[in-house]
Amino acid sequence: MGLDATAMRLDVVTLAPEALKPLLDLGVIGRAFQSGIAELHTHNPRDFATDRYRKVDDEPYGGGAGMVLKPEPVFAAVEAIPVLPRRRVLLMSPQGAPLRQADLRRWAGGYDQLVLLCGHYEGFDERIRSLADEEVSIGDFVLTGGELPAAVVVNGVVRLLPGTVGTAASLEEESHSALLLEHPHYTRPAEFRGMAVPEVLRSGDHGAVARWRFEQQQQRTRERRPDLFARWQAQQEQQ
Ligand code: SAM
Repeated sequence: MGLDATAMRLDVVTLAPEALKPLLDLGVIGRAFQSGIAELHTHNPRDFATDRYRKVDDEPYGGGAGMVLKPEPVFAAVEAIPVLPRRRVLLMSPQGAPLRQADLRRWAGGYDQLVLLCGHYEGFDERIRSLADEEVSIGDFVLTGGELPAAVVVNGVVRLLPGTVGTAASLEEESHSALLLEHPHYTRPAEFRGMAVPEVLRSGDHGAVARWRFEQQQQRTRERRPDLFARWQAQQEQQ
């Protein structure tokens, strides 16, 4: 794939590059890659290991369970990646800052290259952290490797790039774009197994529909995510 000046370049450093491949066939995200809105490149530290066994992990100094990702092959892999002017290096880690929609917006809008470092085993040699601008966690749980977290970031960023998702309005209205969760959606049939579509949505009164949706957003957020609702209320008071 040739480098397009306007494309967002995504470089994933991973011991399991095949885990990222499904993104290339994934609906609108796949089409964004096919149409050149974004480019996905993978780099395997194993290809940069210099010993005869292509070793990428080693025992932890001081003892303890598990193996640790060695610094040399990861540094070599990162240093072989072309550097675009506006680049951000993200290290996937359950110790990182919890991922938020605001981060995805910041990366999608502010950079033309993201380098994502995926850990494995017990994690990274601590010196690998010096390569990163930010550490990112996708939640308070631990997975076996950084590939699924990296795929989450790639998906979330690429869908925000101009041209990936049909209308800008659908991005603005969705959950987390402005702290409130999204309102419920309905499509045909008007009644299904005794569950009816709310009358207001079928009224044709656009003002009433907008008011109902806004009330639903507040109610949902208050019930499901009181933390977000409190932040939204504080934001309203400041305006
Ligand atoms: N021992 C490490 C710790 O407690 O922080 C966890 C290592 S985990 C088994 C292996 C790798 O998976 C991590 O280095 C990271 O790249 C990735 N990973 C696992 N859970 C993650 C999460 N919630 N968010 C982001 N990356 C995660």
